[in-house]
Amino acid sequence: MVADIHHNLKTALEKQREQLQTELAESGTPPADGMGYGTHQADDGTVAFEQAADLAMRENAKRMLYQIERALFRMEEGTYGICRQCGNKIDPARLKAIPYTRYCLHCAARAQE
Ligand SMILES: [Zn+2]
Repeated sequence: MVADIHHNLKTALEKQREQLQTELAESGTPPADGMGYGTHQADDGTVAFEQAADLAMRENAKRMLYQIERALFRMEEGTYGICRQCGNKIDPARLKAIPYTRYCLHCAARAQE
């Protein structure tokens, strides 16, 4: 039964990984020749803002991608679903909500304090 849960989570993680990779690939493409950008002085602020937002999004996506890859690795290794802090099993409901989490609810709550 545990294997079933992990199989479902693995599918979910792989799907999420694919989405993030697509997202990163798309946002990484610079606009061709800066078409439509920077022609007006007034637009510069907007472009800068969009670039900053894009960068933040990419950083987020990269971080999440890393977490997902680590989680998939732990599945291969057989340590998935075990809290890194206390070594207890992570609640399956929590894994379902955050498949790439490394900590049980208790330790995650403590870490945030
Ligand atoms: Zn724990």
